[in-house]
Amino acid sequence: MKCAQHIERDAVGSCQGCQLGLCQDCAKRFGAPYCAKCKLKDMKVQSKGFYFQLGISILLVVIGYYTWVRYFHGGIFESLIPAALLAGFYWGWSFFSKKISKPSKKPQRSKWLSFLLYGAYYLVLLLLSIALGFLIGIYKILMNVKTMRDVKMLERECNEQV
Ligand SMILES: [Zn+2]
Ligand SMILES: [Zn+2]
Repeated sequence: MKCAQHIERDAVGSCQGCQLGLCQDCAKRFGAPYCAKCKLKDMKVQSKGFYFQLGISILLVVIGYYTWVRYFHGGIFESLIPAALLAGFYWGWSFFSKKISKPSKKPQRSKWLSFLLYGAYYLVLLLLSIALGFLIGIYKILMNVKTMRDVKMLERECNEQV
């Protein structure tokens, strides 16, 4: 099999999405073996997930802000802080709950031990989310700007091929 991009080169692997042949350079280009078209598709799916999260966090900001002003009689500016913390907490939770694996499901020697393990797990998750959630939200937004730039570049590249 030859590389789909470089017909003169032998393929060393194939795209995970469409099985197209990839040469050494093409196989290494995106980390995982993907052709440009499939990588583009994959990035679009990812950024859809990002916009979904962004939508939820905007909703949380609005809810947090409204709640603080309405029920805690916060000022116009100081109410932005709990609103931002709430949204940040959401970003942190969805980030760390994927990164840190849950304690194993298999029954521990005592019920109390597994109760403690789960308690510790959620406590760590909670603290990390509060402490770092806001930064993670900003990081994710910056990453998405970069992804969007890559999407544009790949779109141009794929259109040129057609
Ligand atoms: Zn492909
Ligand atoms: Zn190639």
